[in-house]
Amino acid sequence: MKIIDIRATPVSVPLEAPLRHANGCHWGRFVRTIVEVETDNGLIGLGEMGGGGESAVAAFHGVKPYLLGHDPARLEELRFRVANPTASLYNNRTQVVAALEFACLDILGQAWGVPVSEILGGRLRDRVPFASYLFFRYPSPIDGSGEVRTCEQLVAEAVSLKERYGFTSHKLKGGVFSPEYELECYRAIAQALDGDRFRFDPNGVWSTEQAIWFGQRIEHLRNDYLEDPVFGMHGMRRTREKVRMPLATNTVVVNFEQLAANVLNTAVDVVLLDTTFWGGIRACVKAAGICETFQLGVAVHSSGELGIQLATMLHLGAAIPNLTFAADAHYHHLVDDVIEGGKFTYCHGAIDVPTAPGLGVKLDRDRVGEYHEMFNRLGAYPYDQDPLRPGWSPLIPNQAWADPRDERAPRIPV
Ligand SMILES: [Mg+2]
Repeated sequence: MKIIDIRATPVSVPLEAPLRHANGCHWGRFVRTIVEVETDNGLIGLGEMGGGGESAVAAFHGVKPYLLGHDPARLEELRFRVANPTASLYNNRTQVVAALEFACLDILGQAWGVPVSEILGGRLRDRVPFASYLFFRYPSPIDGSGEVRTCEQLVAEAVSLKERYGFTSHKLKGGVFSPEYELECYRAIAQALDGDRFRFDPNGVWSTEQAIWFGQRIEHLRNDYLEDPVFGMHGMRRTREKVRMPLATNTVVVNFEQLAANVLNTAVDVVLLDTTFWGGIRACVKAAGICETFQLGVAVHSSGELGIQLATMLHLGAAIPNLTFAADAHYHHLVDDVIEGGKFTYCHGAIDVPTAPGLGVKLDRDRVGEYHEMFNRLGAYPYDQDPLRPGWSPLIPNQAWADPRDERAPRIPV
């Protein structure tokens, strides 16, 4: 088999409501780039990358001459050709190579008649459990629904998600309001859903002292872990010395150099594997193997996926033995998807691992067209800006929290 074409299409898919986070906001939609790799025997493999627009399209256009005529089975050679680690000092293509790897694995699975999980070593589980991913949210710019700002709104949202999807683990994305207010919110959901498990992630915007302060006040709850309470391995290590629960990260252990450093002088207990950040599903399987050897925990990280990337997370989750935590996904905040049949469905808080050959998802061309048109109409959005706080610089540690009494809704184009 030989690669004969690579195409990239940016899309915008609407969310139920804008998602607030420590550095800014997802402005009511996810912008993703859909990648198609075509081979000389007529197969099309699918990939996906975060962000979009001219730079993403240009990135895939730029690597196309490297890969025309390349055998999609030669994935290691592809990695070094596109993202050689020292050449990457000049052109960081980790996320590009991840999307291409997804597509090549999809092609290989179709050619060999097996799901991607079988290529990765075989399915160990048929369904991957997920945590509910709770965000503070602005009201929908379309109909004003979906706001999560007060403790009462947050508890109602958590209870509703549990009822609709069956989650038994719940993650709260914080770092938006003061640690004192968010502590109150986290305790409220832990009380309302007593018996379930919880995790908190302020995206590393606290000082080490704030991280210790918060961590000590939630020690008695059923925590999976405290995720990135502070940015940097030394702050995590200091927090870990004083807080009795596992610490997790998707920010300071995201490559093999950092994983080696964390093994030698441990700062983080649980490594959240992201099929994009690590450069592909296979890199995550390799990292999971290192974590297995050194008895570190792993879970599956979500960077805001559509169905193609969700499929990569499901095949990863199916194939790694040491997945002892529920995976994360923003997915339930989306109102639609670009794949045939619409969104994946949750059952008892889990999603079935696809069993069709390859990734097991196909593009719905009408939906791709619709959401590509939406991207063309609205363009990208500044992920690291808050639409209600123009001029705010998201410092680390942050010292300017949003005000939970502020009832205003931002004007966001739809
Ligand atoms: Mg995180």
